[in-house]
Amino acid sequence: MSRTLEHFNYLHQIPELGFEEFKTAAYIADALVSSGFQVTRNVNGTTGIVAELNSGEPGPVLALRADMDALGHMIDGRLEARHTCGHDGHSSVVLTAAQEVTVEGLVKKGRLKILFQPAEELGTGAIALTDGGVLEDVDMLLGFHLRPIEECPMGKAVPAMYYSASATVEVDFNGKAAHAARPHLGINALDAAALAVQAVNGLHLSPSLTWSAKATRFLCDAGVTNSIPATARVCWDLRSAENEGMAELKTRVLRAIEGSAAALGATADIRILKEMPAAIIDDEATEVIREAIVEVLGEEGLTDPKSTPGSEDFFHYLRLRPQVKGGFWGLGANLTPGLHHPDMHFDREALALGVQVFKACVRRVLG
Ligand SMILES: [Zn+2]
Ligand SMILES: [Zn+2]
Repeated sequence: MSRTLEHFNYLHQIPELGFEEFKTAAYIADALVSSGFQVTRNVNGTTGIVAELNSGEPGPVLALRADMDALGHMIDGRLEARHTCGHDGHSSVVLTAAQEVTVEGLVKKGRLKILFQPAEELGTGAIALTDGGVLEDVDMLLGFHLRPIEECPMGKAVPAMYYSASATVEVDFNGKAAHAARPHLGINALDAAALAVQAVNGLHLSPSLTWSAKATRFLCDAGVTNSIPATARVCWDLRSAENEGMAELKTRVLRAIEGSAAALGATADIRILKEMPAAIIDDEATEVIREAIVEVLGEEGLTDPKSTPGSEDFFHYLRLRPQVKGGFWGLGANLTPGLHHPDMHFDREALALGVQVFKACVRRVLG
């Protein structure tokens, strides 16, 4: 069995949620130490790892990034961690590439840094590592994600993935309880929440922007049906292909929510639970990836860059450190029935191709 599959089989068996990747991080950090990397564990107090290989020669600093966390699914009424976004695959690929790079002596100038980040799904792992200083000396940062089969099949790869910005907005509407026979003495939080849902649905941003805004959770229950409910909670999921579009969308959505609550005398406590920026991708980094894909998979294995309504916390690195040239590619693996599906599976033979592409990138930048 290949080393990549050995890593994958182990990591797949120990799925851990964001910021709780204790066994996962221990396994990866130990393997990197054995391969001769200078390893820092618990970056910024998290499970994050940064490993470094120094050629001893002047040159650029290239960083490769993998995410480590699994998702929490409700299976038969119980919360269960599962690797349904393929981050076990990402970690296996980047770990194997790092190990083979040392064995084959591919870092001839500059330095190679390897980032294993926690909590991609929570949207805060990349921010924690950036705050921990991992990018201060980095010139180029490369990451990747397995793609669903509809987007990119096995044997092909996408040189640049243009992810969308996303935001999760949670709002508590606060009204005033009263007997349902005397509604004029209360303020119905359900009415305020429902009005806000309609107000957001009635927003119209420029048709030239790619965006969506929809309510995804509505909770309201006073416990009895003959009482005016004093509280209601609604969540919205916002998406935009452009960071400018997201800024405008957020402003308009929050105004619609506050206005709806105020119209009925209620108040709205607004929290942004999770936020990811749209892709910020550098042409030079994309060119490195494009050449690496062609070397490994041939011209027929190279697709055009793709846009996706999905989002990726990788782009927080580039939002927070705009001097870093970022590249993010997609690997075909016949992944089905979809990312985040509890039964997600893919062709594991694709992982070896991912290792080859990353090694080709390292040779191009540090060879
Ligand atoms: Zn995911
Ligand atoms: Zn993912």
